[in-house]
Amino acid sequence: MAILYDKDESLRERVDKCLEDDFKHNAIETAQETFYNKRKQLVEEMPDWEGLRQSAIEIRNEVTRNLDFYVKEFAENAQAHGCTMHYAPTADDALWEILDVFEKHGAASAVKSKSMMTEEMGLNEVLEDAGVNVIETDCAEAILQTAKSAPSHIVVPALHFDREKIAEIFRNERGYDGDAVPEHITHFLRKIMREEFLSSEVGIRGCNFAVADTGSVTLVTNEGNGRMVDSFPKVQVVVVGIDRIVPDLESLDVMMALLPRSAVGAKMTAYFTIDQGPAHPGESDGPEEVHVVIMDNGRSSLLGTEFEDMLRCCRCGACLNICPVYRHITGHGYGSIYPGPMGIVLTAALEGYDNVGDLAYACSLCGACTDHCPVHIPLHDLIRDHRINMVEQGKNHKAEVPLFKAAELMWTNLPVYRMAMKAGRPVMQALSKGEEIDGLGAKSAWIPVLKGWTSSRDMDVLSETRFRDWFEQHKAQREEASKTEGGDR
Ligand code: SF4
Ligand code: SF4
Repeated sequence: MAILYDKDESLRERVDKCLEDDFKHNAIETAQETFYNKRKQLVEEMPDWEGLRQSAIEIRNEVTRNLDFYVKEFAENAQAHGCTMHYAPTADDALWEILDVFEKHGAASAVKSKSMMTEEMGLNEVLEDAGVNVIETDCAEAILQTAKSAPSHIVVPALHFDREKIAEIFRNERGYDGDAVPEHITHFLRKIMREEFLSSEVGIRGCNFAVADTGSVTLVTNEGNGRMVDSFPKVQVVVVGIDRIVPDLESLDVMMALLPRSAVGAKMTAYFTIDQGPAHPGESDGPEEVHVVIMDNGRSSLLGTEFEDMLRCCRCGACLNICPVYRHITGHGYGSIYPGPMGIVLTAALEGYDNVGDLAYACSLCGACTDHCPVHIPLHDLIRDHRINMVEQGKNHKAEVPLFKAAELMWTNLPVYRMAMKAGRPVMQALSKGEEIDGLGAKSAWIPVLKGWTSSRDMDVLSETRFRDWFEQHKAQREEASKTEGGDR
């Protein structure tokens, strides 16, 4: 799986499919409302939320603008603590580095905790092809792996399944024989996972933030599986996105004050782990070997471009939780492992317009995501920038150019405008024959350019009276009336 996992279907085809799935909409609506309310309450309790956001912006910008320095500092310090460092410019490079680790140890089994970077490089599929048994240990990821389904949210990836469906998936695929009570399902899963934690040779995990001046990697989870993954297997692989570095522990403190609050409306997650290298002599647990793979995969190409601000993203998912388009088309509508507002910006920037098609148009430019983002990434501006780039590179719809030329001619030329307004009403009346309304509606949804609008909304027929004439007439009437009133006095 790459970032864009669905290149065969167009945005429209994916959206049409998602719109039919009421369960997904309801699940996302409930989740959005829950996260929104919880976050709102916590934000209101904070004495200086905006000040905190500003500090986070400065921290993230400092790292972005001096990325080479901080990557080097982090790598040197992690190495000093005994980690083996691997730098991967591309996802393929990262895959080779990880495959080498497995080959060196002759390892055929791995436990994983949730990691978007490994999703991005399609690690599971590659390892499985190489004969490695990979077990996702995060509950939601285990559901997706069993169901062979793509994530629909970056923080709560199995949002599109309810408890009944999850029970059914485990019954069909993993021999579960219980009911749909969440505690029973997780108990079943926990038993499986414990065996896997104890027997797997390699642990693979992501990293929420890497701390440059201590060489530490952090992990934020709610299930504790991350701690098992980084403690039990003797060999550990940590995949770090090049944009996940913070300068020091003070900066980490600021980011951690924002992340759980923005992500799930919690002051802190149940588990927060800071790891520094393999187990040291005398320590009772921890891996013997830690391989840290720093993956770029196109991120540094955003430096100095209009999309540089995107490197501030801490993957909290808050922008998804507020987006009205995400609510309707759901995570799968985007066809990318990164859905929602941040997904549009990142996927289009990393995958290119030829691959993502119309993705930048899955947005009403309402700006709610920008307001909500804890590090104030101007998401809706960046989405608009993608559209501008597409037009400039000729990647927009071919019909758009003549249409906008015609519109320009009409709006900038008074005789043409008057002619169009005059002809507009009879043309629209002719097209709307058979409609129950005085306008274009569902029955006009066959008209190529208009159908994007009329298939779901009505378009009134132009009024018989032009506003200009109506205004002139009323102006004259008012003037007449005020003269009369003045005369009466
Ligand atoms: S601007 Fe676009 S992406 Fe952002 S919340 Fe509004 S609809 Fe969603
Ligand atoms: S863009 Fe902002 S709100 Fe969205 S995931 Fe990234 S940090 Fe969170």
